[in-house]
Amino acid sequence: MGRKPGAERTFTVTIEAPADLGYDVYGVPEGSKVDIELRLDAIMEGILATGTASARATGECVRCLDSIDNAVVIGFTELYLYDDAPEDQKSEDSFILEDELLDLETALRDAVVLALPHNPLCGPDCPGLCAECGARLADDPDHTHGDAIDPRWSALSQLADQPVRTAETSESGNVPDDSKE
Ligand SMILES: [Zn+2]
Ligand SMILES: [Zn+2]
Repeated sequence: MGRKPGAERTFTVTIEAPADLGYDVYGVPEGSKVDIELRLDAIMEGILATGTASARATGECVRCLDSIDNAVVIGFTELYLYDDAPEDQKSEDSFILEDELLDLETALRDAVVLALPHNPLCGPDCPGLCAECGARLADDPDHTHGDAIDPRWSALSQLADQPVRTAETSESGNVPDDSKE
């Protein structure tokens, strides 16, 4: 691409996601496909890259721990300055073109981290887990705990009430129940 201001180029690339595209609980899995539509515009000081990245992001719902697998579309814009751009236009954060190569990965990573929610949810109204039994409330919004335990959960609550048995000893002491938070 020449350095003539006004020149533009549009193309589409598919890359494999680099590591750490996102963050611990939610991100684009390494090696998965990322489709990028990229438009490059030559301006006086460098190249303006405008891109749209389409990928899948996976993670865990912070409320119910269900797995999340969402299609995400992330837009980004980055200005890449020519190496000989005026110094007053450069800052520490400036992207500098090196041998006319764009550092797309960093721009993409920044955009992804900004775009993805830090507290991902499986759905906007995820009710989370029951504080008592840990059931997904989305599956069973009306279940209650009290004298009448929902029969669907009674087997679970019995299990939770019983100490862990070994083959030898069936007598139980007061085993602390760690299953409740
Ligand atoms: Zn959820
Ligand atoms: Zn419950």
